Amino acid sequence: MNNNIEDIWWEIDQLLRQQLETEDYDSWFSNLRLISMEGNQAVVHVPSIYRLDWLERHYRRYLEDVIQSVTGEKIRLNLKVEELEEEMPEQPPSPASYVSGGSDKRGVGLPLNPKYRFENFVVGDGNRMTHAYARAVAENPPGEVYNPLYLHGGVGMGKTHVMQAIGHAIIESKRGLRVAYMDAESFVNEFIESIQKKTRNEFQEKYRNNVDVLLVDDIHFLAGKDATQEEFFHTFNSLYNGRKQIVISSDCPPKDLALITDRLRSRFAGGLIAEIQAPDVETREAILWQKCEQEKIKLPVEVIRLISQRVQSSIRELEGALVKLAAHARYTGKRITLEMAQEILRDVVQDDPRGISIEKIQKHVAEHFRVKTSDILGSKRNRSIAVPRRVAMYLSRELTNHSFPEIGVFFGNKDHSTVIHACKKVEEEMRESEDFAKFMERLKQEVRGMGS
Ligand code: ADP
Ligand code: MG
Repeated sequence: MNNNIEDIWWEIDQLLRQQLETEDYDSWFSNLRLISMEGNQAVVHVPSIYRLDWLERHYRRYLEDVIQSVTGEKIRLNLKVEELEEEMPEQPPSPASYVSGGSDKRGVGLPLNPKYRFENFVVGDGNRMTHAYARAVAENPPGEVYNPLYLHGGVGMGKTHVMQAIGHAIIESKRGLRVAYMDAESFVNEFIESIQKKTRNEFQEKYRNNVDVLLVDDIHFLAGKDATQEEFFHTFNSLYNGRKQIVISSDCPPKDLALITDRLRSRFAGGLIAEIQAPDVETREAILWQKCEQEKIKLPVEVIRLISQRVQSSIRELEGALVKLAAHARYTGKRITLEMAQEILRDVVQDDPRGISIEKIQKHVAEHFRVKTSDILGSKRNRSIAVPRRVAMYLSRELTNHSFPEIGVFFGNKDHSTVIHACKKVEEEMRESEDFAKFMERLKQEVRGMGS
């Protein structure tokens, strides 16, 4: 039954990831959990009251529809905050005391996703080093090799997966180590709650003295949250000085973390910094095969090729495309052919007859301006980077079929309004300066020449 529930939720989750803007998904729908499906009631756990309220107001109907589209049954959604659930029977403390449920007073941290293991992590060009460092951290005594290990990369590149894989591996090694996985958002919420409930000491005690390996996901979420940063700074020091292992993930390297205090940033930078980069086409294909096997989805080779060649932005999108096809096959009872896949994935796999991809544009523009592609994808605002970035965005809009939001995703997950603004700005500059207009025309010709 439990398995079944997990599978159902996996599918629902995939649809959500695919249908929603990444930011919306991350803010509101990540870390939801389907707890039970009985009669026509689906109980879903939400990590905070804040989110519950918002989901209730904006997304109840939508969520019900999505669940219905997966289960085929009309259901009524019952959203509950995880904290309020107190019915769980007492369990004997386990040797590796990772206890699920953020509210569990004896345990620390959030549950790990059972699918996020090293065994399910495909190693390829973009993540080879990160994978090796993560393995080393998992296999050596805490704090011994790289401390902290700081992972960064764009959305959907596998940061959470690899971080949780460290957690699983350590728990399974049965060394009696206490692992806590946390996303920074939950850390903030818990911290605020501890102040409100005047349980700050317990909160401190819990993180500083009850953990051998602390995994903190999406640390950029601490931006501007000064009190929590202060708290985290002390937690960090206490664990670090006690030779405990710390692993952190973020969407950018420490030096680019906005609104994070210098002293925290320098702590992060003091360990090993590893970037997960976008997978190349072979790795994308390998990941798809692995997912098909894992989820028992059958697709012809040419369909796998199509998806791996066209879906380039993130592994999450890659999975989204796969799930969409699998769902379609299941409900129509038909085998997926290449034509069907092209039709179903119309909006995901842009069939660009010109053979020009955003990746090519980025690479060409970066070379031309002598900057790094990673800078174009990053968030630095200095002119030497901002200009090539908007030029590349403009060319992507002009020369491919991608929409503004899609282009945003390709550029390190920026908002569509940023892309629109960039394109307008380039147009404006072209009107103002004939030289610039000529330059742009030349660049466009060069990129066109690179097409198929
Ligand atoms: P991030 O935390 O960087 O946004 P996630 O770790 O959530 O990304 O990864 C997004 C999805 O892609 C997850 O379902 C994850 O299992 C999958 N994924 C990412 N990298 C890999 C990989 N190397 N092999 C297999 N699956 C991967
Ligand atoms: Mg993540």
